Amino acid sequence: MKKIIFLFFCLSFRGISFAQLSDTYYQSIVNNVSYDSVFSNLLNFENFGVKNPGSQGLNNTLNWVISKYSEYGYTDIKIDTFTHNGNYLYNVVTTKTGTLHPDIFVIIDGHYDTVFGSGTNDNGSGTSVILEIARVIKNIFTEYSLRFINFSAEEEGFLGSEHYVTYVVNPQNMQIRLVINIDEVGGVAGYSNDTVKCESDQSYPLSNNAASAAFTDTLATLTELYSPLNTKITNAYSSDYVPFQQNGEIITGYYENNASNYPHTVNDLLINLDTNYVYKIAKAATAAALYFARAYNASAGNQVIQDVSDKINVSPNPFQDKLFIKAGSNNKDYFFSLYNETGQMVMKKELYSNNLINVPPAKSSFYFYLITDNYGGVIKKGKLFRVQ
Ligand SMILES: [Zn+2]
Repeated sequence: MKKIIFLFFCLSFRGISFAQLSDTYYQSIVNNVSYDSVFSNLLNFENFGVKNPGSQGLNNTLNWVISKYSEYGYTDIKIDTFTHNGNYLYNVVTTKTGTLHPDIFVIIDGHYDTVFGSGTNDNGSGTSVILEIARVIKNIFTEYSLRFINFSAEEEGFLGSEHYVTYVVNPQNMQIRLVINIDEVGGVAGYSNDTVKCESDQSYPLSNNAASAAFTDTLATLTELYSPLNTKITNAYSSDYVPFQQNGEIITGYYENNASNYPHTVNDLLINLDTNYVYKIAKAATAAALYFARAYNASAGNQVIQDVSDKINVSPNPFQDKLFIKAGSNNKDYFFSLYNETGQMVMKKELYSNNLINVPPAKSSFYFYLITDNYGGVIKKGKLFRVQ
C-alpha cells in the first residue's frame, strides 16, 4: 500500500525531481487552466448534438477531439477501431511520452458518446476536462507517460474501454500505473456544487482495491489543495474504468456530487449544468495528472518551498490534543492540514492570526502538517508527535 508518509520521506532522495503533494511549480501549471477554454469545449461538444453509434454527431465529435489534440501540438494520436451493430466506432488515444518511464502509463479517460441528447454533462464535461489537461500539460516534462483516451460506446456498455483493454492493454502487456476516469462532472445549475466524488475500486477482483484506495485518497488531497472543491470518497461503478479494474488495473475517478437528473435526456445541456464547477474539476484533474505522472520542472530542478515559515509557529511539539498556531498578521488566507501516519488527512482548517486547534482523539503517533496558501502553495510543513 502506497502511503503519503513514504513520499514525504523520499523527497530528498530523488534526483531530477521529486513529487510532493503541494508544489509551486504544479500550482503555476494549474493556474493555466482556463475557464474560457473549458466553456468553449463544452459549447462545441453541445453543438454536435446526439452522439450515438452511427450518428453524424458522433463522427463530428470524433473529428473535433482529434483536431483539438493536434491543435495543442500532440503528434502521437492513434485511433483504436471497433465495430458494434455494423457501425465503425473509434477510441482516440493520445500519448505524451514520459522521460523516465516511457513504458508505464497514467491513463486519463472519459467517453465522448451520448444517448438521446447532446450529453453536455454526460460526458461533454469529462471530455472538456481531459482536453484542457492535455492543453496545459503539453510542454511539461513528466517521468511517466500520460495517455489521454476518449472512449466511444460507453453508453452501449463500456464497449470502447472493453475493446481497448482486450485488444490493446493485454496483447501489448501494457504497464498501467493508474487509470483516472472522468465521467459526468457538470453538477447541477442553481445548486452549490462545491464537492466532487473521488471514486475508489470496491469491486472484484479485490487484489487492486487497496492500491486504488490509496491513489484515491491522494486524488482527494490533491483536489482539495489545488481547487476550492471538497471531496467525498465513493465507490467506482458503471463507467469506463470498469473493464480496467476487472483486468486488475488500479483505477480512480471523478464524478459529480450533486447528481444531475438530465443525463440520457434531451435536456442534458449547458444551461442545466454548472460551467464553473467543470472549470474547478479541470484544475483538480490537472493537478492529479501532474502529480501521478510525476511532472517536473527541467529548468529549475527541485522546487524551493516558499520560505515565510518563520512567521508561522505551530506548538507545542509533542502535543496532547490541542495545537496553537500563530499565523502572524497576513492578508492571505492560510490553511492548516493535518495528516496521520498513514497519510490520511485528519483535518483541514482555515487559519486566522491566532488559532487554537482541537485534534480528534487518537493514540500516540506521528503527524504531518502542511500550511498552504489560497493557491495550494506550501508555506510550511512539519512533523509533530502526539502523546496521550
Ligand atoms: Zn457517462
